[in-house]
Amino acid sequence: NRLANNFQFIDVGRNDPDKKPLQARKTEYTEIYDQFTQEEAAEQSYRCLECGNPYCEWKCPVHNFIPNWLKLVSEGNLFEAAELSHQTNTLPEVCGRVCPQDRLCEGACTLNDGFGAVTIGASEKYITDTALAMGWRPDMSKVVPTGKKVAIIGAGPAGLGCADILVRAGVKPVVFDRYPEIGGLLTFGIPEFKLEKSVMVLRREIFEGMGIEFRLNTEVGKDVTIEELNEEYDALFLGMGTYKAMRGNFRGEDLPGVHAALPYLVSNVNHNLGYEQDPKAYVNLKGKRVVVLGGGDTAMDCVRTAVRQQAAHVICAYRRDEENMPGSRKEVANAREEGVEFLFNRQPIEIVEYFGRACGVKMVETELAAPDATGRRQPQPIAGSERVLEADAVIVAFGFQPSPPDWLQSLEVATNDWNGIVAPEEQLYKFQTSNPKVFAGGDMVRGSDLVVTAIWEGRQAAEGILDYLDI
Ligand code: FAD
Ligand code: SF4
Repeated sequence: NRLANNFQFIDVGRNDPDKKPLQARKTEYTEIYDQFTQEEAAEQSYRCLECGNPYCEWKCPVHNFIPNWLKLVSEGNLFEAAELSHQTNTLPEVCGRVCPQDRLCEGACTLNDGFGAVTIGASEKYITDTALAMGWRPDMSKVVPTGKKVAIIGAGPAGLGCADILVRAGVKPVVFDRYPEIGGLLTFGIPEFKLEKSVMVLRREIFEGMGIEFRLNTEVGKDVTIEELNEEYDALFLGMGTYKAMRGNFRGEDLPGVHAALPYLVSNVNHNLGYEQDPKAYVNLKGKRVVVLGGGDTAMDCVRTAVRQQAAHVICAYRRDEENMPGSRKEVANAREEGVEFLFNRQPIEIVEYFGRACGVKMVETELAAPDATGRRQPQPIAGSERVLEADAVIVAFGFQPSPPDWLQSLEVATNDWNGIVAPEEQLYKFQTSNPKVFAGGDMVRGSDLVVTAIWEGRQAAEGILDYLDI
């Protein structure tokens, strides 16, 4: 009963799904977390207090009905939980795996104050994985076709979020992507130890079953022109991500042995998946002393990939302290367990060269200044603290900037001073660009961020498109 439920958290602590043995984790490209059993999922979900004003829902960027689906899981109503979780989220099984829950839903959970937050992410993953395996599929039986069709450029989380809402409203989405599989960075970026590739393969089958059409291996601007799409479709959605790697602008950055983070990760995914077109593109760090520069999710994925490639030693060097790292705390802890060494308050100033190759990174120690106008504490170099850290390979993981294609100009879509597309949420038609027929969302609008925020923007842009098409 309710009274018993309200005190469940005292007797039952937070229990995350088991992790694979460390030795397997350090060599295998498979997800490290096991799945909850039905009993574990029910017991953990039952810990939810069902707060009157659930902070977790507010903090979740797609505003999932978290206490409601936790209650359904605790009662064993899995299909109802799956139906409910899909009302707000296009890819719940992905978010359950890769959201930085400690900064979002679980960070806001009332029980996070000493008792251990409810395992919201693992429960969200459990609901969708299990319901899909048992045959649950989105119910499309009441959808009435409108005869309208929308071209979506980019099959990442933003494009998929947009397609999901449109197809459920009877609009035909046709999604174009230059890659051979859907998912964007979910497939060609985030490594398998966080998100196995079979997850997106199954999702593609489900989306196709719902009526979404994918034109893969099709680059807009090369294999099909934007003019053709503009002519043929009632509206366009741009969800093409951010792919221009930010540089450190220090000496030696272009030396052999220095790698940009995303090509490094993608070369590894392509090698593992058999998508490799040029074997020379594969960067293998076996036996090398590796230094990864940066402190975000991408840096964490690089260090953990290097561990699995059997690097001799892996160091992550970040210019602020651990408290101010942008990456998920869960992933930092996982990296540490897997043997990664962290050096905080270290700023690279030069890649050191030996016979034409990188052989180390010259670092200066930093201290953090008071928060600036953005609220972030900027690192200040400490004079005289320079040291060289020896390395055979250096990976630069400083984040990404939008790189809008040339054809955007012919569409008359405005960009801002950092090349992001201007498509505000707060306006008559949400996420509409300066061209009324064109909408945009995800990383190419807000800058590189999170899977869940890209999904939200894609879904909201679809609402804007439906209003614009008067549906
Ligand atoms: P993308 O996922 O980049 O998708 C854009 C798609 O557009 C791509 O498939 C691309 O091929 C396609 N495209 C681009 N141009 C064209 C064209 N001309 N024609 C056809 N197709 C085109 N976020 C998290 O929440 N948790 C994490 O753990 C996490 N880890 C990350 C790890 C790495 C290494 C990176 C790089 C990012 C990570 N992120 C993580 C961020 C997250 O992946 C992105 O914020 C999210 O994928 C953005 O979605 P999007 O749809 O805007 O763009
Ligand atoms: Fe938490 Fe992300 Fe799921 Fe929202 S989508 S409930 S933030 S794991």
